[in-house]
Amino acid sequence: MDNLSLYIHIPYCKRKCNYCNFHFSTNFATKKKVISAILKEIETRRYEIPYDKVESIYLGGGTPSLLDVEELQQILNIIYRSFRVDSDAEITVEVNPDDLTMDKAKSYIEIGINRLSIGVQSFFDKHLEWMNRVHSAKESQVSIQIAQDVGFNNISCDLIFGIPHCTHQQWTYNVQQLFRLGVPHISCYALTVEEKTQLHYDLKKSRIDPLSDLHTIEQMEILLDLMEFNHYEAYEISNYCKPGSRALHNSKYWSGLPYLGFGPSAHSFQIDTRRWNISNNHLYSNLVLNSEQYFETETLTLSNKFNEYLMINIRRVEGFSLSYVINNFPTYYKKLIQNIEIHLQKSNLVLEGRQVKLTRQGKFICDAILADLFA
Ligand code: SF4
Repeated sequence: MDNLSLYIHIPYCKRKCNYCNFHFSTNFATKKKVISAILKEIETRRYEIPYDKVESIYLGGGTPSLLDVEELQQILNIIYRSFRVDSDAEITVEVNPDDLTMDKAKSYIEIGINRLSIGVQSFFDKHLEWMNRVHSAKESQVSIQIAQDVGFNNISCDLIFGIPHCTHQQWTYNVQQLFRLGVPHISCYALTVEEKTQLHYDLKKSRIDPLSDLHTIEQMEILLDLMEFNHYEAYEISNYCKPGSRALHNSKYWSGLPYLGFGPSAHSFQIDTRRWNISNNHLYSNLVLNSEQYFETETLTLSNKFNEYLMINIRRVEGFSLSYVINNFPTYYKKLIQNIEIHLQKSNLVLEGRQVKLTRQGKFICDAILADLFA
């Protein structure tokens, strides 16, 4: 039997970052009810998937650090009562820098949280203001210090590159600052324009200049050089870590293992099906508490599974396996080999044994390569 991962979505934020299209609300009126519904959802779904043990629990959002410690503890307690949680399970909470006080960080340790993912994004106030982030650069620095002082060894920080007016020197400083602070895991994302975000709206109204692809590509080049030079493993296209500090939760998800997601908008996955909860806090809590259907389910077709396998694994340092493809998706094997060949010749992909991996230049056009390989 496989091990299981759990994800809990906390759908509240103090402010709307200009690039964000995740599900969250800045209206806290429903908070108590949504938490009650999450507790009920966790308890009622405990037998849904056969599993050996729960290996990772991830509280994401939204902003989970906006919950009171007692509320987080309630969620963890119900998980411990409902699931077999491994004594070494990785338990991560996403934190916004302005929320993390010394007392809160100590309480996190007391209730069993052993990993923090801190949304730093930049160490320059003008970039944070441009993105409408709620915290300051100083608060980011202090939050990392607090986390380390109370004993968190397992810390991840997020950064964003390609922000307009963020010079290459400033981007270099952002990454190096995390090296200096000894952060063992770093996630770096290119700023992208998603529909229904303030950024999308401002661009459409020409209130800001279009983002520059070249600027983003150059900052990714800088990032890859810095990570290599500082011996951080690029174990996934957006994730870098010191040896031995890979995120267990993400690694499980990328390995195609089952996971259960609780809370508004959360997704769940098991071999043949994917399901997702309604992305509306008010409706979600009413439906769950009234024992009515609050989710939709999709049965995955063979081509869905094939595409998903490629999409997830091409981003990993290990790449995807031709042996896995021939064993699980023989229908698509011949065509895949032909399509891979084109990118091998262009040096976008490399074949190592039976593993197909992105080259450094391939990382810059990953989406275009995938479009060529999909069923
Ligand atoms: S804090 Fe995170 S989830 Fe909330 S708006 Fe900003 S990016 Fe989105």
